[in-house]
Amino acid sequence: MPNHYHSELVKKSTTNPARIMKMTTPHGEVTTPAFMPVGTRAVINHLLPSDIAATRSEIILGGNTYHMLVSPGTELIQKLGGMHKFMGWDKAMLTDSGGYQVFSLSKNGKICVIDDHGAHFRHPITGAVIHMTPETSIQTQKIIGADIIMAFDECTPEEGGREAALSALDRTHRWLMQSKAEHEKNPNSAYGFKQALFGIIQGGSHRDLREQSMEFILNMDLDGIAIGGEVIGFNMEKTGEILDWLVPHLPEEKIRYTMGVGLGPQDLIDVVAKGVDVFDCVAPTRNARHGTLYCGKITRKDGWLVFESNEDRGRILIKKAIYKDDNSPIMEGCGCYTCQNFSRAYLHFLYKGEMQAYCHLACIHNVYVMQDVCIQMREEIMRN
Ligand SMILES: [Zn+2]
Repeated sequence: MPNHYHSELVKKSTTNPARIMKMTTPHGEVTTPAFMPVGTRAVINHLLPSDIAATRSEIILGGNTYHMLVSPGTELIQKLGGMHKFMGWDKAMLTDSGGYQVFSLSKNGKICVIDDHGAHFRHPITGAVIHMTPETSIQTQKIIGADIIMAFDECTPEEGGREAALSALDRTHRWLMQSKAEHEKNPNSAYGFKQALFGIIQGGSHRDLREQSMEFILNMDLDGIAIGGEVIGFNMEKTGEILDWLVPHLPEEKIRYTMGVGLGPQDLIDVVAKGVDVFDCVAPTRNARHGTLYCGKITRKDGWLVFESNEDRGRILIKKAIYKDDNSPIMEGCGCYTCQNFSRAYLHFLYKGEMQAYCHLACIHNVYVMQDVCIQMREEIMRN
């Protein structure tokens, strides 16, 4: 495997801004559009690496910086050879900077405080004070050893209005310069593999701030472009609007990543149609655990795709009594291990009995459907 990072355009759709990109990393190639299952705590809940590979995932979000700092700690991760070895995943991996986690924690000011230097929080078990700065975030990501690392940013809250968005923007830009300088001291992981650094466009729901942030990030000439903030993936209408502002100005050869998009299959179809390449979301596995299973049919419509479903919002609630004796698979035509071998009735039985096998089988299905949507989008782009 070549020890470098590279991204290139394979094909553009003729009907919308969707495209296929090829990303080369020291741990393998990734063809986009690609959904990244999330393993925040060095594990993708209820799934083994072999399950994840069987869903045809080529890249995951592995071991988040904040969580890894807290446990098991960087010293141990380094001793064990990095996150790829630690969690048994030998393909491409992205990690995030911890910015979003400290942002969530800072909503409770007793646990975490953010100032110009970074985030300061108490270790939840030992009580030791941890200072997370752009430099320490990058250093931690070098020890995690992911192929793609993220600049430390301040996530933009939606509730604070323009003032809060502006303040988060200024900090994010300053921290980006610090993150880049730290990364460039040695652009490799602690294990000698080349790492790509992505910057994050903030600016909340304000068009001028988003454009200002984009210009700053583009000037920094990073390996890839992420679009972040509380609104992204949460409010899909606004997410689409923000993408319309930004995407026409983004360079063609760089990967575009919407952070936290993927509450359901249709969300992926919608952002890819706007020109996005990769996305991550905890929803497929979390939904599965809570009994919400994707169910629909990926069909062609007006030169693009749609996740068509007779069910409410493209999902079934497996706890419902109507599935008690339903001998059909979760989703007709699904090629996943669960749908190939088990009925809704069996999943209903496992769920009601709170048996562990339920979560395993349910997560396999939901992640598989997300990847299936990505694969069919690639085929559609190749076709037109
Ligand atoms: Zn399935």
